[in-house]
Amino acid sequence: MSSSELTQATAGAETGPAGSVRLDHVTHRYGRGGAAFTAVGPVDLSVPAGEFLVLVGASGCGKSTLLRLIAGFEEPTRGAVRVSGAQPRPGEAAGVVFQTPRLFPWRTVRGNIDLALRYAGVNRAQWPERRAELLARVGLEGTEKRRTWEISGGQQQRVAIARALAAENPLLLLDEPFAALDALTRERLQEDVRRVTDLTGRTTVFVTHSADEAVFLGSRIVVLSKSPGTVALDLPISLPRGDVDAEELRDSEEFAELRAEVSHAVKSAAAA
Ligand code: ADP
Ligand code: MG
Repeated sequence: MSSSELTQATAGAETGPAGSVRLDHVTHRYGRGGAAFTAVGPVDLSVPAGEFLVLVGASGCGKSTLLRLIAGFEEPTRGAVRVSGAQPRPGEAAGVVFQTPRLFPWRTVRGNIDLALRYAGVNRAQWPERRAELLARVGLEGTEKRRTWEISGGQQQRVAIARALAAENPLLLLDEPFAALDALTRERLQEDVRRVTDLTGRTTVFVTHSADEAVFLGSRIVVLSKSPGTVALDLPISLPRGDVDAEELRDSEEFAELRAEVSHAVKSAAAA
């Protein structure tokens, strides 16, 4: 599906560009009264449709909280969150991928994907074609009949990504999805996510604490300060996108410089 098709499919009653995200002076607090704890904010952030934004910061700085606010799983204590111009509705605003795949273990790979297609309201007659397309996108051809406990951790996370893509939602949110994977599998999945999102034109917000992962994936990186997280650095990344040689990109001088810059920013933000 092209980005223009995606926009058409998801345009409608909403008033902002499909897949765009806006945070206006967002603060989020957990608990009440004397036990209240401010986890993030104030944060102002505007993510145009089609951008690949990576949120980086030390553990506990509020990255997951921000992502949950954008997904509509939490409402901000102060300020406003808008996705495609509207208040995000949980389960509808975005496709979400968590750190652990959260698949249905008694179902096959095919069963997990089909369930996502059903939730997405895809006509049953189109499931075989859509399923094959999704599995091919994440490199899972031939695994349809396997149970989720029969496949590797990397493959399970691929299923979770395919499931998040099933809804054809213009916004994709990923919360440290590769943190538990070995280095080689992680690099492969990074390459796939970069390619898939470039190809489909989806807006993506990806959370990580790895500067390396951030620079490889992002078209823009926002470094968060330590808790309560605020924007400490907002950096556009102009590395080539689309059909690129990942190895060459990772070995480039430009990549090394950006990684050093982000890594330094994360460390000083955590210490400040
Ligand atoms: P990160 O993802 O950057 O590690 P989180 O957004 O998970 O950070 O958490 C930010 C802060 O908010 C942490 O101090 C965490 O302990 C706290 N926190 C997260 N979720 C809750 C919750 N449901 N109730 C209370 N405090 C929470
Ligand atoms: Mg987190």
